[in-house]
Amino acid sequence: MNLSEINFPQTIPELLTIISRENDIQLIGGATTFGYLQATRYLSFSNTIAIVSRIPELHAIHKTERMISYGAACTLSELEHVYPFEYPQPASLLRTIATSAVRNVATIGGHLMYDRSFLSLWPLLACLDAELEFRAASQSHIKNIWYLVDENGKHCAAGNEVLARIRIPLLSIDHIYIKRIGSNIFPGGDGAHLVALASVDRRSINFFRLVLAGTRAFRDFEAEQRITSASIPLSPKIAQNVLHMYSESLRKTNFWNTDLILPLIGQILEDLQR
Ligand SMILES: Cc1cc2nc3c(=O)[nH]c(=O)nc-3n(C[C@H](O)[C@H](O)[C@H](O)COP(=O)(O)OP(=O)(O)OC[C@H]3O[C@@H](n4cnc5c(N)ncnc54)[C@H](O)[C@@H]3O)c2cc1C
Repeated sequence: MNLSEINFPQTIPELLTIISRENDIQLIGGATTFGYLQATRYLSFSNTIAIVSRIPELHAIHKTERMISYGAACTLSELEHVYPFEYPQPASLLRTIATSAVRNVATIGGHLMYDRSFLSLWPLLACLDAELEFRAASQSHIKNIWYLVDENGKHCAAGNEVLARIRIPLLSIDHIYIKRIGSNIFPGGDGAHLVALASVDRRSINFFRLVLAGTRAFRDFEAEQRITSASIPLSPKIAQNVLHMYSESLRKTNFWNTDLILPLIGQILEDLQR
């Protein structure tokens, strides 16, 4: 086992100075994936480790009329009573993650940046168009969460980027559908979550998102566009058309089991009628 230098920066500039100085550095939030990232039983760590969870700025939660933003070091437990986890289905989803002991230390930043798969809250936050604020020595940039998905649908977090904040526009959500499929989500397994959100304005749909994520992530932007602005109840023609679009795009991925997922999407479209 090699020895590592462990740093506990107290501010973001201090963290960025450490990152710019070191070639081989591992960022750590709550460290709950730390053991699982080891490839063999002979433990091997980066030369430098930086713990980000002691930076007060990364713990703050800000809310305005239009937006909520969480610091990346907020623990999953700290998010239990804030948007969108005040809705019953997201709250239940949060509680399916590990145990309260793990959720008390696991950070939302580590949850989203774990790059072996898309963990449970990822598809929900993708449906909510979450934006991620990354900090680097020279600049900071804000990207839609979908930025973490490569062209094959795999997670592509970049090693040394510091995720500082997660911003989520506040929407009123009328329909929330969350379904777990497959087996385990963590640390391995073929588990995934299908999440769909919709809001309805008078008699038409003004917001619709559907994201499937586990070992890979899937979303059909065109099908979402097709359904947005459609009137409620959905005409059988639009429902069929949208199902056909999802069927084609799922098949194209050559990864997802279309026969399993398509009936669930059919169910989501039916639920929208209620
Ligand atoms: C027993 C157990 C059961 C679990 N069950 C589930 C489950 O059912 N469903 C589920 O979804 N998850 C499950 N998990 C996984 C859990 O959600 C993650 O372990 C947790 O969210 C990771 O958070 P962390 O802060 O500990 O991340 P860490 O382990 O600290 O980090 C994870 C990754 O993110 C990077 N990282 C951390 N913070 C930042 C940052 N600010 N900027 C950039 N990169 C960063 C790290 O470098 C690392 O690569 C389980 C975990 C355990 C231990």
